[in-house]
Amino acid sequence: MEGNRGSLERIEVLRKITELTRSMIVELSNGSSKMIAIDRFKSYCTNSLENCCCRFNLSEGKDVLTLQRESHVRRLDVLLRVLLIIQQLLRENRHSSKRDMYYMHPSIFTDQSVVDRAINDICILLQCSRHNLNVVSVGNGLVMGWLRFSEAGRRFDCLKKPNSAQFIPVQVEEVTDIATAADYILVVEKESVFQRLANDRFCSRNRCIVITGRGYPDVPTRRFLRLLVDVLALPAFCLVDCDPYGFDILTTYRFGSMQMAYDAKNLRIPQLQWIGAFASDSEKYDLPEQCLIPLTSKDKRRTEALLQRCYLRREVPHWRLELDSMLQRGVKFEIEALSVHNISFLSDHYLPSKIESELTTGKLIGDYQSIHSTNMGLVWNGNGMS
Ligand SMILES: [Zn+2]
Repeated sequence: MEGNRGSLERIEVLRKITELTRSMIVELSNGSSKMIAIDRFKSYCTNSLENCCCRFNLSEGKDVLTLQRESHVRRLDVLLRVLLIIQQLLRENRHSSKRDMYYMHPSIFTDQSVVDRAINDICILLQCSRHNLNVVSVGNGLVMGWLRFSEAGRRFDCLKKPNSAQFIPVQVEEVTDIATAADYILVVEKESVFQRLANDRFCSRNRCIVITGRGYPDVPTRRFLRLLVDVLALPAFCLVDCDPYGFDILTTYRFGSMQMAYDAKNLRIPQLQWIGAFASDSEKYDLPEQCLIPLTSKDKRRTEALLQRCYLRREVPHWRLELDSMLQRGVKFEIEALSVHNISFLSDHYLPSKIESELTTGKLIGDYQSIHSTNMGLVWNGNGMS
């Protein structure tokens, strides 16, 4: 099912594809070897704040592709082949995964990352998001809790079974009629933690929505979370392992990934609050030595690199302190280590106390009071609140 807006967007992208190919033909007929210039975006730098020029929606120079360099010719060849596939998808209003696209010319594309880069290049050239190209991911994310919504006419009613996992819809732009009675959204890094919460009936005992991207989150998971945060205006909290990978996943949710920096304005979730696991939790919750794993030299290098990212200095300097504290202690631990005292410690004590203190002492409380006092009062139908 495609709304009017979707249809107009499709026509607009098709028009831009024609314009782009036409401009390349003009360059060729003029005897120019410069074919296209692709803006470069990055989500962070490692400069000091005085020397940082990162702006999430501004490009940082251009890659000019010419016919004089072998590597550029290959990149152009792939780009045009992928563009042709996309044009066909849009004309027929069909969707495809990146993986399907790879298998259309595996000997030429040679690797999935080559196709991924071409899709990113095309998004930048056409100034659109990946879903505008009818390129979809295989959905990986899960959701449960106090939530109801529709996707392309299909009803998702998590309210009937708030502790059962549902797949996050792949076509997030088709999600409408969102209704909730939740007080907050909790994002957890891992599926095992999500399942722990489901088994402990966490959502029956706490009015919340729980989401996991099962590791590094895919685009639909991030867009769905962003939609919920925008539409429902609920506070959103994130729980990851106390290690550099967990922290990197947290930054992917909050600031976007480097690879898709061009679309950070649609993918990042600036409201996301980090609630754990902190290095200091190992003492606060009395974790025994056996639960603490020494950081490897790779972990240390990764953590040092994370500490250099400019967005941490600029927006969340307190996160840096906790990350630095992990480095100083030289140990990491998994969220599951909190089960050492009691299997349900995470659901019974750790999360409720963390969230309670964020909700009552955080700045969030003033902004969200009106929503806490409602009961199933919020419905979003795609055109605004009703
Ligand atoms: Zn920067």
